[in-house]
Amino acid sequence: MTANPKPLTRDEIESRLREEDPQQLERLFGAADAVRARHVGEAVILRGLVEISSHCKRSCAYCGLRAQNKSAVRYRMENAEIFACAERIAKLGIGTIVLQAGEDPALDRDRVAEVILGIKERTGLAVTLSLGEREDADYEAWRRAGADRYLLRFETSDPELYSRIHPRHTAPFDRFAALHRLRDMGYEIGSGVMVGIPGQTVESLARDIELFFELGLPMIGSGPYVPDPATPLGISPQPEIEDQVPADLISSLKVIALSRILRPDANIPSTTALATIAGENGRARALETGANVLMPNFTPEARRADYAIYPNKAVLCEASDHMLEGLRRDLSDIGRIPR
Ligand code: SAH
Repeated sequence: MTANPKPLTRDEIESRLREEDPQQLERLFGAADAVRARHVGEAVILRGLVEISSHCKRSCAYCGLRAQNKSAVRYRMENAEIFACAERIAKLGIGTIVLQAGEDPALDRDRVAEVILGIKERTGLAVTLSLGEREDADYEAWRRAGADRYLLRFETSDPELYSRIHPRHTAPFDRFAALHRLRDMGYEIGSGVMVGIPGQTVESLARDIELFFELGLPMIGSGPYVPDPATPLGISPQPEIEDQVPADLISSLKVIALSRILRPDANIPSTTALATIAGENGRARALETGANVLMPNFTPEARRADYAIYPNKAVLCEASDHMLEGLRRDLSDIGRIPR
């Protein structure tokens, strides 16, 4: 087996991240869109997101769910409530449920395994987990229970920045090593970064994107960093650094486009964070710049506002029974088909 040649060197990635000329940018975005069309076609794959708990024991400096945020409202969904969401998702013909949460110790190994088994039994949906840093024994048990995929963003490849935004870790946890182990356990793995974290340089972001290629990621989710005033990192002003990546639409689109060019077959979402900073336009722009996945939020209405990883989270599309018709109409404007 011969390894795939790398489509762009790290220097080339970096120079594209620095590109400001509108025509050159249109060329980059157009090239990514063409790679998307050739490799994964016109389908926009839907994944039903359910945010099952807002409890968290960690102290991530960017995230509104951090343990120290006393203003955060905490909830934990009952199994029956999660199963009802799964049934709604399956009834709409969506193939995957994504279970996401803060690092909630009450969502222990057995409890999550029960949820996975219950979803499989009732719906046969593919199950993607996004439950953060856990012991291998947890990951293994959940895989045995039937979980199919695991999302764990490495957030940044700069170790100094990583430790700055993940303070108070009891023991160092290597997300790269975890991703390798998850893959060895048989999970399809997904990772990605936040774009524009204070302290993130263009040079380090270029390395992040090169790593998407080196890891051979089948799923790549990246979105802009959104400041949350209830967190240490969101309290303005942050110290100015040279070479700071802006947390804006264009930087996020560049990351999506480069992800697509380096990993032509990957599943790449148009994220909620992007829609939050750029609105409806952001959702469509990402889909025209390399993205091929949307993750509509199926967290029950009453809970949704409380899963506040950052403020004013956008609604990607209303998760109603008529969602698919609405999406079919919207997406047909850009020649795409929800699936
Ligand atoms: N506890 C899980 C799920 C976290 S939420 C985990 O740690 O993996 C999923 C993603 O939301 C995180 O990986 C992070 O990249 C993103 N996120 C968190 N806070 C954010 C913020 N303020 N702005 C943008 N994205 C954020």
